[in-house]
Amino acid sequence: MDKELYDKKVKCPICKNEFTTKKIKTSALRIDKRDTDLYVHYKTVNPYLYSVWVCPKCGYAAMEGKYNIIKKYQHNIITENITNLWNPRDYGKKRNIDEAIQTHKLAIYEGNLLNWEKSYIGGLSLRLTWLYRLKGDKGLEIKFQKYALTIFTDCFSKEIFPMAGMDSVSMAYLIGELNRRFQNYEESIKWFQTALKDPNIKRKRLIENMVRNQWFIAIEEHKKLKQLAAKSEENNEESNDIEENEKEQKGRIKIEQNSNGDRGSKIGKKLFFRGAL
Ligand SMILES: [Zn+2]
Repeated sequence: MDKELYDKKVKCPICKNEFTTKKIKTSALRIDKRDTDLYVHYKTVNPYLYSVWVCPKCGYAAMEGKYNIIKKYQHNIITENITNLWNPRDYGKKRNIDEAIQTHKLAIYEGNLLNWEKSYIGGLSLRLTWLYRLKGDKGLEIKFQKYALTIFTDCFSKEIFPMAGMDSVSMAYLIGELNRRFQNYEESIKWFQTALKDPNIKRKRLIENMVRNQWFIAIEEHKKLKQLAAKSEENNEESNDIEENEKEQKGRIKIEQNSNGDRGSKIGKKLFFRGAL
């Protein structure tokens, strides 16, 4: 298992400390299967565990692609808010899921401090969702999934693609799929349509198939949900009807006693039609 990992030397752009962080040899990666929210299961070591680099000396944490992008004027944001409170910790060894979760949370926190683009934060949240899935913590998986969905929906028309490593087709698909998971079916179908209308979809056969599959599932689930809702409404109506009928019965007796009985016959008709329907 360790053969799949190697040490990457990194120089911290803030404190200039040199440290090593684990990386996975791409040649060693073996994909097992994909979840519909684009999470990839690996037969080998999971590369998501190592996507965030953390300087053990100053606590600066970011994803690999972002690590050296930090500007000089932003250095003090990290030194003042992170380094001052940082207990030196080394995430450069083999990581377990909990350690990977900590690195992602740290990167989200620091990314927000640095005011980095929201889609970057969304991408980290999505990965955090997957880490909680690996850990088996459903509650936190859903919490960060919601967070990622809110961010991606907001970013879609505001930022430039690629966003969190995804092009516009994959992102529209993902927003559609996350909405489907939260039973926002109308929203979900709207986003699947956006993905299918995107001219880039012609080059994305895998995603195109996923859009069509999940769209179909969303329509089916929506239908079922509407049927269930109608049924429970019917049941409520029935129990209301019983109460109403009792009241009406009482009312009718009074009316029939006190008037010419017209209202009573109307109620009678109403009840008859209800029974027939
Ligand atoms: Zn540092």
